[in-house]
Amino acid sequence: MNTKPHIEAVIPVFNEVNCLPLLIDQLDRAKASISSETTFSYLFINDGSTDGTTELLRNLNSQRPDIRVVELLHNFGHAAALACGLDHFKGDAALFMDADLQDPPSALASLFYEWKKGSKTVVVERGKRAEKNSFLFQTFYLLLRKASKTLPPINFGTHSLLDKTVVERMRIHKERNRYFPGLVALCSGPIAAINLPRGERAYGKSRVGFGGLAHLALTAFLSFSSAPIRLVSLLGFICSGGALIGASIIVAVKLLTEWAIPGWASTMSLLFFASGIQLLCLGILGEYVARIYDEVKERPLYWVGTILPAQQSPSQSHSIGSSSRSSFIRPV
Ligand code: UDP
Ligand code: MG
Repeated sequence: MNTKPHIEAVIPVFNEVNCLPLLIDQLDRAKASISSETTFSYLFINDGSTDGTTELLRNLNSQRPDIRVVELLHNFGHAAALACGLDHFKGDAALFMDADLQDPPSALASLFYEWKKGSKTVVVERGKRAEKNSFLFQTFYLLLRKASKTLPPINFGTHSLLDKTVVERMRIHKERNRYFPGLVALCSGPIAAINLPRGERAYGKSRVGFGGLAHLALTAFLSFSSAPIRLVSLLGFICSGGALIGASIIVAVKLLTEWAIPGWASTMSLLFFASGIQLLCLGILGEYVARIYDEVKERPLYWVGTILPAQQSPSQSHSIGSSSRSSFIRPV
């Protein structure tokens, strides 16, 4: 009987046909170093790839019994693909990582030994970054940590080894605007970290993109801190205070001196300033309203098209539900 713990790598992929062979090769080598103590398999979430990734994964699935694939109906985005990975994971610990080799596969052994020592959540702390936007990332982590009480003082993203108990807790979280590291922190006790530099992706450009990252940063702030809404109150308070002082001065000038009342220009600039602040506040409130609307809609995070279980050829693979319908997998 096999009593070794089983690790399953859960990897979201969107158009990574060039990165995948490299990734699998490096992970195969990394897993060899711990194969006396654990078994290992892959779960790829194919997030609507259109560049040959689908064919590559189907081939791999038919050739290797240790590769499972869940194909989403179309592209739902990184966060939804990760949610799908949480729902479909099977094993004792889940290795979450990206497919572009920015998360070094060689970290596997160190992550495993921390987990074996008893840490239920082991994350890769992102040390030095080779990326162009590294300053922005560091500033984001710093501000987020200051603004949020839930998040630990560790800069981490997806790359982590999560015990199945942590995964089970994360499945319960059904929110639509998802910040993966925040959910990890929320569902974990003490978090162990190993520190590694973060490199550039092996091929191509970021699939998430700058807009996607900006949206993720906003999601992180809005879902794990109340700082933005507090900022609105603070701004309102400062503006009202300023306006009160300004008005008192104007009244005093009018009553006590012969000086001319400040002219049109100053009035207008004050007006613009006040409307600017109001618009900013409305914008922040609007973000909350938009997200509440998102949550209220309870829209499925993703739809699965096809599941390719291990040791099964694509011809035997089945669609969930009837052939013409796909099923909505909800976290359980
Ligand atoms: N990804 C995905 N769906 C998307 C965009 C990205 O599954 O819509 C995958 C992508 O293939 C990679 C991971 O998510 O494995 C992270 O994407 P990327 O490297 O583009 O993000 P970045 O590192 O720029 O944040
Ligand atoms: Mg990347």
